[in-house]
Amino acid sequence: MAVDIREQTLADWGEFSFIGFLRDRLPASHPELLLGIGDDASWWRPAGGEVLTTTDMLVEGVHFDLAYTSAADLGWKSLAVNLSDLAAMGGRPACVYLALGLPGTTRRSWLEEFIDAFLELADHYGVQLAGGDTVRSETLVISVALNGIPAAAGPVRRAGARPGDDLYLSGSVGDSFLGLRCLQGRLSVSGPAGIFLRERHLRPRPRVELGAFLGTSGMVNAMLDVSDGLIADLGHLLSASGGWGAELEIENLPLSSAAREALRAGMCDYPELLTGGEDFELLFSLAPDRFPELAAAVAGVGVELTRIGRITSKPGIFLLGPDRLPYQLDGKEGYDHFQTRDC
Ligand code: ADP
Ligand code: MG
Repeated sequence: MAVDIREQTLADWGEFSFIGFLRDRLPASHPELLLGIGDDASWWRPAGGEVLTTTDMLVEGVHFDLAYTSAADLGWKSLAVNLSDLAAMGGRPACVYLALGLPGTTRRSWLEEFIDAFLELADHYGVQLAGGDTVRSETLVISVALNGIPAAAGPVRRAGARPGDDLYLSGSVGDSFLGLRCLQGRLSVSGPAGIFLRERHLRPRPRVELGAFLGTSGMVNAMLDVSDGLIADLGHLLSASGGWGAELEIENLPLSSAAREALRAGMCDYPELLTGGEDFELLFSLAPDRFPELAAAVAGVGVELTRIGRITSKPGIFLLGPDRLPYQLDGKEGYDHFQTRDC
């Protein structure tokens, strides 16, 4: 009886066959990449002469659960989270490295699906896989390093927010948190809304074009991507900017219709939406009089931008509820790897 080779394990297939498979899957090389997979190091000549580098790691049991995460979801997300970091610096992604720690029992079909989804997202943004490493490991570990080119105006840093700046957020907040709850069976949302929320968690769409546009505009004072939760990430932006504070207007938070419905039905509350992580939206500050010009410049990108508050000289994060009355956030303020136990 013929054996389906896709059912082989990595132990049967072998490290070098896997690397050969990877090479065969790659598109024609990126013009800036002089030497890619196959030697001891890659060699590339970035057009602008300056390079931004970011790296992010995904570990089974810490960042994902294979019970509800497919190989394709993971391949996609491991690159998406890095693209989001690069977008948050206002840069353009160029070449990427993929280091994998894999159990010998990993199926070839699983790896093919993982690589196909990773390369699909890479191709979409013209990102070239330039190298990596493949080792045996008890748990699944994925480490991605992404290089990119900063805008001519320089990278947009977390530091740079000033009192009086308005705070803007792309897209919507809280969907990924709700999607994770659905996947964990802790929340039940059926139909298209449920599919949307799960997708927002498993297949985040990094704001690559928007980030590059914002970087090129030279108008943004400070920016980061929202990965740990809106409150926690705003705190990071404020402390990097020198300890200013912020007012956040709860009623202006951009919520998807699925999140709005969950809120209305009492399935979640504002504190959860404000502290749930992994939305991979961009949070940035700019002088209020610059927004019309900025909005016109990024109109073609097709991502909604919402003013959610402003930077204050008084330190701390102050939430304003309906009628601008203070709103209290009880409990935890975001994701910290060493202080939070939730997966
Ligand atoms: P070395 O032993 O010199 O570190 P390897 O055998 O680990 O080389 O890798 C051979 C080639 O394959 C290198 O160019 C490396 O960058 C590439 N490579 C290995 N694993 C991966 C991977 N998971 N993704 C992309 N490239 C990889
Ligand atoms: Mg190696």
